[in-house]
Amino acid sequence: MQQLVIFDLDNTLVDRQGPLADWVSAFSAHHALDDHDRVRLLQFMRERCCPSTFEVIRAQFGLAPSPETLWRDYCAHMARSVTCFPGVLDGLAMLRSAGWNVVVATNGGTEIQTAKATTSGVADHVDAVCTSEAVGERKPDVTIFEKAAAACGADLALGGWVVGDGVETDIRGGRAAGLRTIWISGGRPWPEGDIVPEHITADACQAIKLLLTTAS
Ligand SMILES: [Mg+2]
Repeated sequence: MQQLVIFDLDNTLVDRQGPLADWVSAFSAHHALDDHDRVRLLQFMRERCCPSTFEVIRAQFGLAPSPETLWRDYCAHMARSVTCFPGVLDGLAMLRSAGWNVVVATNGGTEIQTAKATTSGVADHVDAVCTSEAVGERKPDVTIFEKAAAACGADLALGGWVVGDGVETDIRGGRAAGLRTIWISGGRPWPEGDIVPEHITADACQAIKLLLTTAS
């Protein structure tokens, strides 16, 4: 039987933090923001970023360009700057040659998430990229996991795995969808709480090795 794995995109398969920090630094220099504001801006954009984020940023820092222009500039930078973590593309290829259904489920706008998946090479190494904007629900809602499974011809009822760095979005969401989970820690300790993932690995490559060698 073909197995299913649903990957998160940002900070799981691709490095979002590096390009985001670069963008914030360049943006802060361009608009003459001080260090304090730069750090605040990075924290503000770390979790989530969408067109309305730039309405807040524009108002907060009294910037001249329209929110649409700021959003466009941000999207263009991220789309051309995002890269996979080392070894990820080879790992995805190995999963697919081993017969796995491999799909991405990511919270975010379709245009920017698809651009990042394409630029990084992820799109060519998975069966489908499923975005919350296209689905109409964000992780941890079960709908996005259902749609992701369906997008590669799999059935959530038959089980599968979710791999991601988000405690609530990926791990709680994956479990609620009846899937087993691997949390990408990036060196962080697992937070205390009422749930635990099946496995914790430092990065996606280790998670892929685990799936290839131990998952059944
Ligand atoms: Mg993530």
